[in-house]
Amino acid sequence: MGPVTGNPKQHDDAPGLTDALGNTADVLASTRQYLRPFKKLPTVWCPGCGLGIIQGAIVRAVDELGLEKDNVMFVAGIGCTGRMPTYLDFNTLHVTHGRAIPAATGIKLANPELTVFVVMGDGDATAIGGNHLIHAARRNIDLNAIVVNNYIYGMTGGQYSPTTPVGSKASTAPYGGIEPPFDVSRLVTAAGASYVARTTAYHATKITQYVKEAVQNPGFSVVEVMSNCHTTYGRRNKLRNPIDLIRWLKDHAVEKKKWDSTEPAERPEGAFCVGVLHSEPRPDYVTLYNQIIERARNAEAETGTPPAPVEVPKPAPMAEPVAVRLSGSGGQGLILAGVIYGRAASVYDGRFAAQTQSYGPEARGGASKSDVIVHDRPIVYPEADEFDLMLCMTQEACNRYAPHLKPGGTLLVDSLYVTECPTEGACALPLTEIARNVVGRQVTANVVALGALSVLSPVVSEAALRAAVLDAAPKGTAELNTSAFNEGIKAARGLESGRRPR
Ligand code: SF4
Repeated sequence: MGPVTGNPKQHDDAPGLTDALGNTADVLASTRQYLRPFKKLPTVWCPGCGLGIIQGAIVRAVDELGLEKDNVMFVAGIGCTGRMPTYLDFNTLHVTHGRAIPAATGIKLANPELTVFVVMGDGDATAIGGNHLIHAARRNIDLNAIVVNNYIYGMTGGQYSPTTPVGSKASTAPYGGIEPPFDVSRLVTAAGASYVARTTAYHATKITQYVKEAVQNPGFSVVEVMSNCHTTYGRRNKLRNPIDLIRWLKDHAVEKKKWDSTEPAERPEGAFCVGVLHSEPRPDYVTLYNQIIERARNAEAETGTPPAPVEVPKPAPMAEPVAVRLSGSGGQGLILAGVIYGRAASVYDGRFAAQTQSYGPEARGGASKSDVIVHDRPIVYPEADEFDLMLCMTQEACNRYAPHLKPGGTLLVDSLYVTECPTEGACALPLTEIARNVVGRQVTANVVALGALSVLSPVVSEAALRAAVLDAAPKGTAELNTSAFNEGIKAARGLESGRRPR
């Protein structure tokens, strides 16, 4: 049991040390090269835990596949299984409980060349991370999930997990569990995984074989390994000795062919099916995603020559970050205005910009705000308590947000809706009336406001805002939006000088 646990120095001095199958020195030599420096050993795992066998079997698969260490990534969450990457000398990431799959998904999307393993216990994979597991299967993202199912939360105190059999005892089920367990392999098969296999910690060579097949499958692969946690599960369920528990796993593992040909009543109580349970290759998520990118590029190419890049003069340096809030109500286009503002600052003025938004549950009429932070340096925090520039297009927004205007800051209000202004220095313009009566479309009030803001504050240049407005304009509305933007500029320039910001 546990051939790669323990101090490797002891391995050097113990030529007779064998694994569960009787293999000796060769096994150790092929796995040791993938272990982190010896100071990380011995492992935290209890003597006799199946995790040592499983770890050894996985690295032998990597070895037999000839994968370069630098091209392999191991991601894990919390729990005994989650400790595995600590010992492995690959790229590794140890994340919070249940979040290994989302982290691995990001890694795979960012670098599709990596072979990404996600090692999880049953609680990590199917309780805290259960939603991630089924959606990764549905997407068929090319990850290799190794789910070590020992029927319990081992490290955190022996609580029952979603796979604890009915009647089995746990620290949180002292009289036996009453919840039907998940069948992990059936769950991920139903959710869309394209390769699913199950075996046990006893069948070490099968683990290696299935892990290799999982890596070769271009899509979401799951290898469920039934393992022994004699310390927290076995001790409460009359299987305290690791050998007894691993023998129990061996005796209750029924090969798929036999499983399919026997009636449920003929199988021993607690039996489970092992083997390749599902294999149906289909295009993986990254491949489909790249096809979408290709289609989008081709569609752009078909629409003709892209417009010439807009030349925007370099803006003046910015010593401090500038905070901008565009506020009003849902339906006034303030979220889009914030996105346009951020795009103008970043894409065209060459600064950094971070945009966040918040709106009420109502599709129309609820409170809505869009904040943009602009700076010459990367923005480490995208929120602000006080604002240098603020647009309020409703009285409610003005009442709520104007107190957060910095002293000396610029406030633009829509005079149709804001009749009581908390500060004398506000610039009031009939933005909505200009959009409705001059431009001819009330929905362009947000663009009228952007035109006005380009005059009232130098945070973003007029040329940059104009270019970003046109980027966002739906097909066939460039003229309308240009008109709205120009009317905003005209209105702001026409303000009495006393109402203009300093
Ligand atoms: S608590 Fe259980 S799963 Fe964790 S190391 Fe010990 S035997 Fe293994």
